[in-house]
Amino acid sequence: MEIACLDLEGVLIPEIWIAFAEETGIDELRATTRDIPDYDVLMKQRLEILDKHGLGLNEIQKVIARLTPLEGAVEFTNWLRERFQVIILSDTFYEFSQPLMRQLGFPTLLCHQLEVDESGRVINYHLRQANPKRQAVLALKNLYYRIIAAGDSYNDTTMLAEADAGILFSAPDNVIAEFPQFPAVHTYEDLKKAFIKASNRELSL
Ligand SMILES: [Mg+2]
Repeated sequence: MEIACLDLEGVLIPEIWIAFAEETGIDELRATTRDIPDYDVLMKQRLEILDKHGLGLNEIQKVIARLTPLEGAVEFTNWLRERFQVIILSDTFYEFSQPLMRQLGFPTLLCHQLEVDESGRVINYHLRQANPKRQAVLALKNLYYRIIAAGDSYNDTTMLAEADAGILFSAPDNVIAEFPQFPAVHTYEDLKKAFIKASNRELSL
């Protein structure tokens, strides 16, 4: 049996923090791990900025609810779920992804968690585990599933390497150049074809 593991941000939905920064006009929220490599430093800064602007979980979810999945993502997800069991492995937080996951029909999602107090203030965050995407693939392989994984960035490469087949989707040029072992595609039509090719079953578009 085969399972499809998908990254979320940049594959099915926009980068949430960047989209959120655009929606709110808070430029300092645009920083990503490319600007601040230490994830803990980055997350602490983000939580401070949310506090400073009086943004609690309710306000954040209202803003995120205006976002939509990438064009074609809903159709692609439905296509994939008819052919594979699909698990989304993401470095986002359940509380942020909720409005977008609703639009995708709530496929299974493994990601991190925010800690929110009674007033809705985000007081902390909890990472699911270290190297969560790779560990999830490892665990599924331990159940004798064959894994085909797709993602768009550095935080996906250990997942792609651990999978039986890894695919880069809509990845930046530097990631494609650094990981030539993974086929790189840029449209959902080509991603469907890449999944069909990677499958050990006879599938059609
Ligand atoms: Mg991504």
